[in-house]
Amino acid sequence: MTVKLLMQTQVDDPHVLNDHLKLLYQNAIPGIAITIVASAGLAFGFAEHSTVHYKFIWWLCLSAVVGFRIIDTALWFRRANKGLFSCQNDLYRFGAGVLLTAFLWAFYCVYFYNTSSIDELFSSLVIVSAMAGGAATVLSGNKLLSQIYTLMLLAPFSLQMILGDNPAHLLLGCLGLAYAAVMLSVANAAANFTKNSIMLRNEHNQLLKTMEHKVQQRTEKIIELSQHDSLTQLLNRRSFLAAAKLQLSQIETDSQYAIFFLDLDGFKQVNDNFGHRVGDEVLTEVVKRIKQACQHDEIICRWGGDEFIIMAHQSPLYRFEDLAIALKKHINQAIITTQHVINMDCSIGIAMYPEHGQSISDLISLADLSMYSRKSGGTDDYVMFSGELEQKIKHEMHLSKGIAQAIAEQQLRLVFQPIIDSTTGDIASVEALLRWEFEGNNIPPDVFIPLAEKNGAIKQIGYWVLEESVRHLSALHLLKPQLAICINVSVIQFEDVDFVSKAEQIINQYHVNPSKVHLEITESVFSQDKLKLINMVKALQLLGFMISIDDFGTGYSSLSVIQDLHVNTVKIDRSFINNLHLHGIDIVKAVMVMSHGLGYRVVAEGVENQQQANTLTALGIHYLQGYLFDKPLEFDALTQQLSRHPDEQRSPFLLRSANS
Ligand code: C2E
Ligand code: CA
Ligand code: CA
Repeated sequence: MTVKLLMQTQVDDPHVLNDHLKLLYQNAIPGIAITIVASAGLAFGFAEHSTVHYKFIWWLCLSAVVGFRIIDTALWFRRANKGLFSCQNDLYRFGAGVLLTAFLWAFYCVYFYNTSSIDELFSSLVIVSAMAGGAATVLSGNKLLSQIYTLMLLAPFSLQMILGDNPAHLLLGCLGLAYAAVMLSVANAAANFTKNSIMLRNEHNQLLKTMEHKVQQRTEKIIELSQHDSLTQLLNRRSFLAAAKLQLSQIETDSQYAIFFLDLDGFKQVNDNFGHRVGDEVLTEVVKRIKQACQHDEIICRWGGDEFIIMAHQSPLYRFEDLAIALKKHINQAIITTQHVINMDCSIGIAMYPEHGQSISDLISLADLSMYSRKSGGTDDYVMFSGELEQKIKHEMHLSKGIAQAIAEQQLRLVFQPIIDSTTGDIASVEALLRWEFEGNNIPPDVFIPLAEKNGAIKQIGYWVLEESVRHLSALHLLKPQLAICINVSVIQFEDVDFVSKAEQIINQYHVNPSKVHLEITESVFSQDKLKLINMVKALQLLGFMISIDDFGTGYSSLSVIQDLHVNTVKIDRSFINNLHLHGIDIVKAVMVMSHGLGYRVVAEGVENQQQANTLTALGIHYLQGYLFDKPLEFDALTQQLSRHPDEQRSPFLLRSANS
């Protein structure tokens, strides 16, 4: 217990304690060796008949303690070599051995004092002084221990000499005490120095370890960042390509893999309408859904923006179709962000290894093409790459090259579809519709316009249409001065900052009143920069042009569009006219109600039968367009139609309905 109290070190750090004990045990070996030699010399060198037995017993006791210390030291080194740490108990054991040794030395000096000759006394004092001197360094690993050891060796013996009857011993005793005092101070200084050195060494080690740990953490973070997309934490392009290549290099011969190219539909509108923060929320949620759909170690990557790539392995129990359907199902569920509920859909293209391609980059391109073919009109859940698709893509590329040359090759012409005033049955305007004859075939505008938009040819074609339409209108005004012309303008044309000035230049050139020129824009233009678009529309209206919203009801945020822009005309898409008997009538009614407040005129597109015409006229629709009245006409046929007598010109269909 006393040993424990004495030895309680102030160090909690096991590294520091270990260093202290290491020093103590290492220094113990020479100390023990000297103890063995000195004790034998003293006990047997001055042996007298009366004390020889007692000295032998003393020597046996000291040898037992020394033996215990030797075993303890050997065991400690064995544990230390195994990398085990020291504990407080090691220190207590070591201290007990040292203090017992000191006690036995003190006991010898005091007990045999009266029977000792002056030589023996002197030798004893020299030995314990030397041992105390050595303890200052040998036991510097523990200050208390070294100081108690010194005191135990010297103090009782010196005091006994001072207090004894022999005045000759007084000086020796005083010298012994003085020496003890000096040694205490030396031991104190040595122990402090050792303690500081050990502390510094450990602090240094600790610092090194902390720095190493931090460097390791940073390195891991940098690797992580360089491999993953920061928003979704999915693999980025580079690390996906590396992972996918590795996968392909390790597969068995009959394994089938597929690359899924997944692109979100309408994500751009989400970003434009609700902002990038909502866009990010949607992307994060979509990634969660993709992970839910992928259950079989698929490699998932954010390819960029709203594009994702998944590499999947096909097994007898798990087919690619299952994954495609699961992806669709999960993504189609409404996404609830902090402020909005958003419905997303996606287009998926799939290419298979080894059937469609051997390299990852080929498979990605083919999956991308397949996805794209789904985007441009497909309705299937996913599109698997095929030879047929390859042919279709090649054909599109051929057409794309062709349309870029169409103006120079004089392959374009305009046809004109009359638009009828529902109250008078008169032709109020005509819509200019583009026709392209390419290699002996009439290519439908629904096919070539998107291609021209994609390759940029639409800009030049758009100006050609504008000029041709205005040129024809100026000729038609000779027959019918009130006639207006409706011209389709593509989203891409609105990106051209010169559009307004060029439009102005064309009407000036042909001396046409701009109020007779109706520019038809679809709602898809509103996925562009809204402010820029509103300014452009305003500038055109300021010049006197009329603005129509085409295919109304098929696009995005339909009703807000009408409010934002003071459009002159709204053309209800023919899909609603087709469905008048179902839900189509609701949108027609809604558009009509709003027209009173907002002051726009309404055209119904695709009117094909008398019943539709009657219903629409009864609902107050201002204009009607469709095959019931006229198909798009060649310019000559139109002039013939217009040059007839006004009564004849009037639509017989509406007259019929008016008379009935
Ligand atoms: P759009 O602007 O909606 O043009 C009306 C389309 O509906 C025309 O097809 C027309 O022939 C067709 N249509 C008219 N009445 C009826 C009907 O009663 N029933 C049916 N089933 N269809 C009817 P078209 O000429 O094939 O044009 C298709 C689309 O191509 C146009 O749709 C327009 O978006 C685009 N387009 C045509 N010419 C141009 C152009 O010069 N520039 C631009 N940017 N796009 C054009
Ligand atoms: Ca149109
Ligand atoms: Ca239309």
